[in-house]
Amino acid sequence: MNKFDQAPVRKLLAVFAHPDDESFICGGTLAKYASEGVDITLVSATRGEMGRRMGNPPYLNRETMAAAREMELRQACASLGIRHLIFLNIRDKTVEFTDADRLTARIEDLIHQVDPDVVLTFHETLGGHPDHCAIGKATTAALRGTGHRGALYFITFGDAMERPERFGFTRGDITKVDVHAHLEAKLAAFRAHRCQTEIDEWVWLPDQEAMTRFGRHEYFMKGNREAAARLRHDLF
Ligand SMILES: [Zn+2]
Repeated sequence: MNKFDQAPVRKLLAVFAHPDDESFICGGTLAKYASEGVDITLVSATRGEMGRRMGNPPYLNRETMAAAREMELRQACASLGIRHLIFLNIRDKTVEFTDADRLTARIEDLIHQVDPDVVLTFHETLGGHPDHCAIGKATTAALRGTGHRGALYFITFGDAMERPERFGFTRGDITKVDVHAHLEAKLAAFRAHRCQTEIDEWVWLPDQEAMTRFGRHEYFMKGNREAAARLRHDLF
């Protein structure tokens, strides 16, 4: 038995709002940690059935979209190496209107079940979409409520946090993960979310050309003391 076999399995819990949040925002990081043996559980609050993109040319409608997007998300999880997928079955674009205490309690239950080393979610005010902010707020409250030891990070968009001072943060608040070796998996996940990406011509260019659109790094804001104690380039 080698050292790797004896090490406890590291676990990551990602709690997001829509199918595609995981791939579009932090797919490289999820692929990287999955490739290192991290056991990843993805929670999607909704099935994204209110998405504005209906395929290109359009072939989905409000009735068929939830099932199509669920299937796409399952394919994206396979591309990224995510082993467990849980839906909270909340209607798309209504996360902010669900009972906050009940939502927080459901996420607390998941934290107890998964016992994660790392929790990823949206920042409750910088999430960029009401569903994102609502699920981020509930997840943050849940982790605090349980008193769990997991390190909390907020996902951020693109390379905005390359200069965190513009948002009132310092470099010490940011973890910058090098995902260069995992861009093929990220591209495969983008393509899995076909009804959302087939209108974006660059996604379907030859692989090497398409991957030039991705940054080398993904950025995370440290959300609690456990995260603050970690290195600046590694979530664990
Ligand atoms: Zn989203």
